[in-house]
Amino acid sequence: MVKPILLSTPHMGDRELEFVKEAFDTNWIAPVGPHVDAFEREFCQAIGTSHAAAVSSGTAALHLALRSIGVEAGDEIFCSTLTFIASASPISYVGAKPVFIDSDRTSWNMNPDLLRSALENRVRLGKLPRAVILVHLYGQSADIAPILAACNDYGIPLIEDAAEALGATYKGRSPGTFGRIGIYSFNGNKIITTSGGGMLVSEEAELVAKVRFWATQARDPAPHYQHTEIGYNYRLSNVLAGIGRGQLQVLEQRVQARRHNFEVYQQALGDLPGIEFMPEAAFGRATRWLTCLTIDPDLFGCDRERVRLALAREQIEARPVWKPLHLQPVFAGCESIGGEVAEKLFDRGLCLPSGSNLTPEDLERVIEAFKKV
Ligand SMILES: *Cc1c(COP(=O)(O)O)cnc(C)c1O
Repeated sequence: MVKPILLSTPHMGDRELEFVKEAFDTNWIAPVGPHVDAFEREFCQAIGTSHAAAVSSGTAALHLALRSIGVEAGDEIFCSTLTFIASASPISYVGAKPVFIDSDRTSWNMNPDLLRSALENRVRLGKLPRAVILVHLYGQSADIAPILAACNDYGIPLIEDAAEALGATYKGRSPGTFGRIGIYSFNGNKIITTSGGGMLVSEEAELVAKVRFWATQARDPAPHYQHTEIGYNYRLSNVLAGIGRGQLQVLEQRVQARRHNFEVYQQALGDLPGIEFMPEAAFGRATRWLTCLTIDPDLFGCDRERVRLALAREQIEARPVWKPLHLQPVFAGCESIGGEVAEKLFDRGLCLPSGSNLTPEDLERVIEAFKKV
């Protein structure tokens, strides 16, 4: 049996087990404890922000983000369309409505011109969105400056979904630290993982304190259990925060390994007719969380699905680029501003195995299987 090569798998460093053992030795097996506090502090230092709340998932972080800016039922939220469902499901949790915005060709992320013209339109209609959720896809930052400027001009809070972009830069700083709130994910397939977990960051101490309060069942300061608000059970476990502390120490190595994967693939496959690799925008460093490319069926001779299935037959897991949210059945009827760019990327886009623990032999197997097609 050939060994399957998966898209993106966890990759532990040397210290994680030590931190987990420490949690066991001190019996801090709870969604509170010294690792949680330390993970928040160390995360802030790593990405250059002031306050962070460790939670059970990136999705939970986004849910809390929407709640903390006071989104109400019926509000509209602008959101990137080319992304994973979790960028938008929290919009539904709070009873708001997503409006999807198309990508630009250079970053594959939200098109800043399209956002600005959409906001101008909404001013005329007297119907501004309550927030903008900007996604930084596949380890590449969106073009944040013009997007932030457009949001600021209309007083709209910017929430950054940097779940896939930890370790990336935008003009030397970390995406996720520009808007009012940023969120990250430590799910098993992300660049570093706690098996499951997330982080919410902000420069506003009070906002982050409130997020921690909601994430722990909104317990009022009283000796008995007293609640004046409804909260959630969203805090990160102290055991998992220990894994996160270890993973944070190897983040830069993980970025280098994933960028290396990309370079090897590009060297080997970049000259094939009809193959285009996801560009790296000039404004920053992409982590290449996943190596993505597009296949032009006319030039290449067959379409993306043929390639994906041929790889699958050789036990190689490749995936289509995210299906745009405006095409998802669950969001049928939601407004979409543009969408053709994202649709084409979905139609032609393929993500290759990209884990930081792939061996040179793994990469070679993927390349050979691809070339055979
Ligand atoms: C993974 C991911 C999330 C959700 O994070 P979880 O920790 O899995 O809940 C949100 N947005 C994007 C873009 C993601 O890739």
